[in-house]
Amino acid sequence: MRVDILTLFPEMCEGPLSHSILGRARAQGLLEIGLHNIREHGVGRHRVVDDTPYGGGSGMVMRVDVVEAAIAAVRRPDSHVLLMAPAGEQFTQPVAARLSQHTHLVLICGHYEGVDGRVAEHLVDGCLSIGDYVLTGGELAALVVVDAVARLRPQVLGNPGSLMEESFTGPRLEAPVYTRPQSWRGHEVPEVLRSGHHGKIGAWRAASSAALTAALRPDLTARATVEGAEAVDRGRGRP
Ligand code: SAM
Repeated sequence: MRVDILTLFPEMCEGPLSHSILGRARAQGLLEIGLHNIREHGVGRHRVVDDTPYGGGSGMVMRVDVVEAAIAAVRRPDSHVLLMAPAGEQFTQPVAARLSQHTHLVLICGHYEGVDGRVAEHLVDGCLSIGDYVLTGGELAALVVVDAVARLRPQVLGNPGSLMEESFTGPRLEAPVYTRPQSWRGHEVPEVLRSGHHGKIGAWRAASSAALTAALRPDLTARATVEGAEAVDRGRGRP
């Protein structure tokens, strides 16, 4: 998979993409990253990338023609082009799984007041939001997307089995995990996890996962029930 990030601040992105699992994936050729400064496509001698908003208002807006040129410089036939935007589709684990099927992602990072509306309307395949809050720019959002997507690609994680029981992979949070010391300040690791009995351990993890989800995120189970019912309805030919 290749990901090209279009940004006014490429230096913001290099660090998080150079360490740990993503750094290793890049070194092994499993993940290619291109960081591109949108300013290279700026207008005139001063490489202008933004202007004041039509209709008034505060802040500067990134120009559509500049973003268009930045996209054109990296676009391939297999590109899936996404704008980071608070108004975009909510980025979730299922969206990460969907994006991990692509061979080329282009992520556009806005800055300042935002990006000319015609970028979202005419130049991209979609817009992505990482949550209901406003960041100063799209760089951190793009990094979140790359991290969550890349670890779903084949061979990127040392132990792909760990993906199976992860939070949000199904309608549940993962059960708590423990390691040594067995006893810490009077708090013991649950005995069943030390029993070596795989059946009992599996049952304990399933029950803990269900209890944790019910306590902290009951919405996940409710959502899965609705989605399941909708899938059954679609199977029966209902809209
Ligand atoms: N004025 C815009 C609004 O109210 O929707 C916010 C612009 S924000 C200061 C600048 C840029 O940061 C956006 O163009 C977008 O690329 C990025 N950004 C901010 N919050 C984001 C979020 N929650 N998810 C994805 N990108 C975000």
